[in-house]
Amino acid sequence: MKVRQSTKSVERSASKSGAARKAAAGSPTGGKYSAILRDLQQQRAAILEEAGEGLTKRDGQEAFPDVSDQASAEVDQNFTMRIREREQKLLKKIDEALDRLRSRTYGICERCEEEIPYQRLKARPVTTLCIACKTLQEQEEKIRR
Ligand SMILES: [Zn+2]
Repeated sequence: MKVRQSTKSVERSASKSGAARKAAAGSPTGGKYSAILRDLQQQRAAILEEAGEGLTKRDGQEAFPDVSDQASAEVDQNFTMRIREREQKLLKKIDEALDRLRSRTYGICERCEEEIPYQRLKARPVTTLCIACKTLQEQEEKIRR
C-alpha cells in the first residue's frame, strides 16, 4: 500500500507574473477564437515580462562616473525606448483585440463589417481589417503620400 504521494504538486504556477494573472482576470472565453485568445494573452504576458526586465536593467545603469560611458548609455536607452515604443503599440493592439473578444465584436472587419477569415486572424490576431479592406487601405495610403 502506498500512503505518501503529495509534496510534489505544490510548486507549480508560483512563477507566473502578475501581468498574466491580470490578463486572465477579465476572462473572456473567446468562443470559437479561444486559440487566438490564448495566443494574444501569451504574447501580452511576454511583452510585459520583457518590459519589466528592461526597467530593471535601466535602474542598474544610473550613476556613470565617466561622461562617455553616460553617452553610450543614452544611446542604448534610445534604442531600448524605440523598441519599447513598438512594444507599447503592439500591446495596445493586443489589448484592443482582447476588448473586442470580450465584447464579441472580434473578427469583424472594421470597414466592410464582414467576418475576417479565421486563417487571417490566426496569422495576425490583432488585425481589424479583412484582406480586401487592408489592401484598399494600403492603396489609399500610397495615394495620399
Ligand atoms: Zn473588410
